[in-house]
Amino acid sequence: MTPDERRTALEAIAAEVRVCQRCRLGASRTNAVPGEGESETDVVFVGEGPGFNEDRLGRPFVGRAGDLLVKLLATLGWRRSEVFITNIVKCRPPDNRDPEPDEVAACLPYLHRQLEVLDPALIVTLGRHSMARFMPGARIGQVHGTMAAADPQTGAREAMTFALYHPAAALRSSEVERQSYADVAALPAALSEARRRRAPTDAPEHADAAAPGEPHLAAIAVGDDAVAAPAPDPLTFF
Ligand code: SF4
Ligand code: URA
Repeated sequence: MTPDERRTALEAIAAEVRVCQRCRLGASRTNAVPGEGESETDVVFVGEGPGFNEDRLGRPFVGRAGDLLVKLLATLGWRRSEVFITNIVKCRPPDNRDPEPDEVAACLPYLHRQLEVLDPALIVTLGRHSMARFMPGARIGQVHGTMAAADPQTGAREAMTFALYHPAAALRSSEVERQSYADVAALPAALSEARRRRAPTDAPEHADAAAPGEPHLAAIAVGDDAVAAPAPDPLTFF
């Protein structure tokens, strides 16, 4: 898929999400929040669902939890514009309640399609609800900071998943916050490992000369296998 095709496909999904009424959350939302970020990235962050600020703005992780996520990424030199950020459910559950199983089931096809298009090497789950979709049966207290192969049924053909605590949980507990920083520090190595496990035929696609301008996540990866990035696209908000 070319970068243009990928962007167009993501925008088509986002357009469907913005008018979706497949579950009851469609009736109570202000704005659906399809997700946003770099369409050529190797890393996708998946939260639970929009909160108050996200619902107001139609963008993911723009409240206090989002601020902490940005701070966590900054410790790696990563910026939110260099990754893709989305949620399990795209519309805010009233009063920030947990999404119901039928709401999750109704919305998951969108995430599945986004992951198909993005074809990431690494999916970073934020919190236990997101983790539960990618590591069924796992407990967040045990798997945070660890990596497992993603089931291709998630839409991600050849990805690893990496579990983080939800930034909102880190805002409530200094111990979870401390652990979140420690877990995030393991992300660059996880990304390198996830890339290494992908088919070697993947390499050429990402081996074009890095373009000047805003650094792309692929170009700032750690380790010997850091590869040059394709030309960065202008940041796209979906
Ligand atoms: Fe549609 Fe998902 Fe919003 Fe439900 S939560 S209305 S399935 S976009
Ligand atoms: N919490 C989430 O899980 N997702 C958001 O987009 C914001 C807060």
